[in-house]
Amino acid sequence: MRKKIAAGNWKMNTTLQEGMQLASEVVNMASDEVKSEVQVILIPPFPHLTSINKLVESKNGIYVGAQNCHQEASGAFTGEVSAEILASSGIDFVVIGHSERREYFSESGDLLAAKTNAVLKNRMTPIFCCGEKLEVREQNGHFDLVGTQIKEGLFHLTAAELSKVVIAYEPVWAIGTGVTASTDQAQEMHAHIRQVLAENYDQDLADGISILYGGSVKPDNSRELFACPDVDGGLVGGASLKSRDFVDIAKSFQ
Ligand code: PEP
Repeated sequence: MRKKIAAGNWKMNTTLQEGMQLASEVVNMASDEVKSEVQVILIPPFPHLTSINKLVESKNGIYVGAQNCHQEASGAFTGEVSAEILASSGIDFVVIGHSERREYFSESGDLLAAKTNAVLKNRMTPIFCCGEKLEVREQNGHFDLVGTQIKEGLFHLTAAELSKVVIAYEPVWAIGTGVTASTDQAQEMHAHIRQVLAENYDQDLADGISILYGGSVKPDNSRELFACPDVDGGLVGGASLKSRDFVDIAKSFQ
């Protein structure tokens, strides 16, 4: 059974006080309202991680993730945070290769493969992001590009390692724009990703991996997106900054 996941990427938003308030609202509402089989993941800025982790520690089904990590375990990398440090802080998930990291920080396929290794080595779950820009879709290159991103970042892994990864398909043209992929667009790409996984590993492995959709997910579109057979949840940006909206999204699994 694939995990159903609602993950909230806060990006570079919230002061510590605002973040604590948001997290406690989500924890209180989600504990009462969200089905127990749904994993709710809060992904705040680095400085908030340990405080928010303490807040959610004893709550079943609510987890904390980081937005990025460095690929090395330690060393002279001023300003960076390693997977080892995150694991030692009790963090369970790490987002790898968000399109903003690929675009603004020039993160390459090789680098993302190394970061994925670091996350897995430290027994956390990578949420590996992929997705095409608008011009690539307009030239009908989106299936090839997403296939290449997945191969570059993940296909050096053994089947056992890959089975621990969560994939997030986030078309860049839908992130923060208010334009959401249609259910047909989301479903066909998720099915494509699963097919690429099956061709390169096997069908059982492909069927077991959670694939999240990201890109302007809101309470009024999450139900139809999450009802797609190959969509296992959402990586949510803007709407995760409003506790009511985010919990409503987490409640919208069938
Ligand atoms: C994201 O940050 O991964 C994202 C999908 O953002 P938004 O929901 O705001 O489009």
